[in-house]
Amino acid sequence: MSADRDVTTASDLRSDIVPEDFDLKAARQKHSTTDRDARPRCPECFKISIVKRSPGIAGIVSDGRAYRCDKCGHTFDEPAEVGR
Ligand SMILES: [Zn+2]
Repeated sequence: MSADRDVTTASDLRSDIVPEDFDLKAARQKHSTTDRDARPRCPECFKISIVKRSPGIAGIVSDGRAYRCDKCGHTFDEPAEVGR
């Protein structure tokens, strides 16, 4: 009984103090950081400017690599993924 009453009070207080804008901003910031961390990079120069090729295009180019770095021109099968 006591706990139920406490939760109701906290919820009411929270919505009153924290504006909707704050929640939205935090969510967007979190998403942006996660996206940047998970971005694949060139294993040669570690730039994120890599292009994923389709199998057909890779066949035409004939080196058979799945990715190509737009910065240094390095071609590779698996991009380097920087965790943090
Ligand atoms: Zn590169």
